[in-house]
Amino acid sequence: MRTVDDLLDSGVAGRTVLLRADLNVPLGDGSDSGTITDDGRIRAALPTLQALQDAGARVVVTAHLGRPEGLPDPASSLAPVATRLGELLGAEVAAATDVVGDSARSTVRGLGDGDIAMLENVRFDPRETSKDQAERAALADELVELVGTDAAFVSDGFGVVHREQASVVDVAVRLPAHAGRLVRREVEALRTLTGDPDRPYVVVLGGSKVSDKLAVIESLLPRVDTLLIGGGMCFTFLAAQGHAVGSSLLERGMIETCKGLLEAPGGKIALPSDVVIASEFAADADTRTVPADDVPDGWTGLDIGPDTVQRFASSVTAAATTFWNGPMGVFEMSPFAAGTRGVAQAIADSTAFTVVGGGDSAAAVRALGIDESCFSHISTGGGASLEFLEGKPLPGLAVLGE
Ligand code: ADP
Ligand code: MG
Repeated sequence: MRTVDDLLDSGVAGRTVLLRADLNVPLGDGSDSGTITDDGRIRAALPTLQALQDAGARVVVTAHLGRPEGLPDPASSLAPVATRLGELLGAEVAAATDVVGDSARSTVRGLGDGDIAMLENVRFDPRETSKDQAERAALADELVELVGTDAAFVSDGFGVVHREQASVVDVAVRLPAHAGRLVRREVEALRTLTGDPDRPYVVVLGGSKVSDKLAVIESLLPRVDTLLIGGGMCFTFLAAQGHAVGSSLLERGMIETCKGLLEAPGGKIALPSDVVIASEFAADADTRTVPADDVPDGWTGLDIGPDTVQRFASSVTAAATTFWNGPMGVFEMSPFAAGTRGVAQAIADSTAFTVVGGGDSAAAVRALGIDESCFSHISTGGGASLEFLEGKPLPGLAVLGE
C-alpha cells in the first residue's frame, strides 16, 4: 500500500493534495441543532492533515455528511465541520460553498503552502454515489481538474473505503494515490484480527440486529476462542434456544440461522444469563433484572444484566486479543447503559490488544466517558470495518494497491 509517508518523503511543499476524509459526524437536532455532538471523526483525521500541513502541502479536503440525496441541503453543509477542524488545527480552514463549482475553484486558487481548504459535501453531487461508472468518472474528472493533474490524492476516509464512489475510487485511479495514516492504522489493526492474533481471542458483539452482523459472525466464529453476544441481537439467539423473549427485538427470520451458529463446533458462543427488562422502550419505564430465559410477556429486554456483565468482563480480562462491536444495551438511555459501560470498561482495563468497531460502539465509549486511549484501536468505520472483517474486498483499498 502506498502511504502518505511515501508522499511526504518525496516532498510535497507547494503541491496540491486532494484528501478524502470521513468527517461524517453526528449533528444535534432540537435545541442543539447543527452543532457537532461527537467530533471523533474530525480528530481522527488530524494526524494526516497535520503532517501535510507541516510539510507545506496545499490540502483540499473532500468529504460527505449525512444523507443529502445528491442535492445541496443546508442541513448537511460541511461548513460547521470546517470550523471545528480549523479550531482543532489552530488554522483557518476555508470552506467552499460548492463541490466543484466557482466557489471550489476560487477556494483552491486561494490556497497557500500549508493551507487547508474544504470542499462542500461531495454527496450534494449525485454523481458521487451514482451506480453509473461514467457519471462517477465525470465527477472524478472535475475534481482532478480542480486540483490539477500534478496533484496527489490521499485516501484517509476509512469509513468510506468499502464504497465504490467517485471521491473514493475514481479519483484514486486518476491521481497518484496514497493511503493516509488513519487508513493505514485501521488496516493494520483489522488485519491483526483476521490474521493470527494472540490468544485467547475474544469477540464481543452487540448492537441491534443479527442480520447486520451475520456475515462477520460467520467469518470470525472459526477464528475466535469465545464469541460473547449481547445487545438487541442476543434475543434472537435466546429465541433460537427456545426461550420466550417478550417484546424484545427479535428477527424471526434469523432464528434458524442462530440455531445453526449455536450448534457450530466448539461451542464458542456465550449468551447473557440475565437481562434488564423494561415495561416500555423509554428511559423512565419500569425496569427489572430477570434470568435471560425468563422474559415475561409484554416486557422488553434493553440491556444485559449484572451477572452477564461479570461473566463477559472476566472473559475479556483473560483475553489477549479482543474485538468489540455493538453496544450491549440501549446505552443512549441511562437505565440501560450499565451493560455497555461494564463490558467496555473491562475491555479498556485489560492488557490485551483491543479493537472497537462500529459507529455506535465508538460513540458509546465517548458518551460513557471511558478513556479512548485505553483501547489499542477504535475504528472510525462501522460498515467498512465489518466488511474488512468479513473478508470482502474493499474497492477504496484495492485502488491503493492493497
Ligand atoms: P454499531 O454501530 O456499533 O455497529 P449497531 O448499529 O449494530 O452498533 O447497534 C447500535 C444500537 O443498538 C444502539 O443504538 C443501541 O441502542 C441498540 N441496542 C442495543 N441493545 C439493544 C436492545 N436490547 N434492544 C434494542 N436496541 C438495542
Ligand atoms: Mg450503528
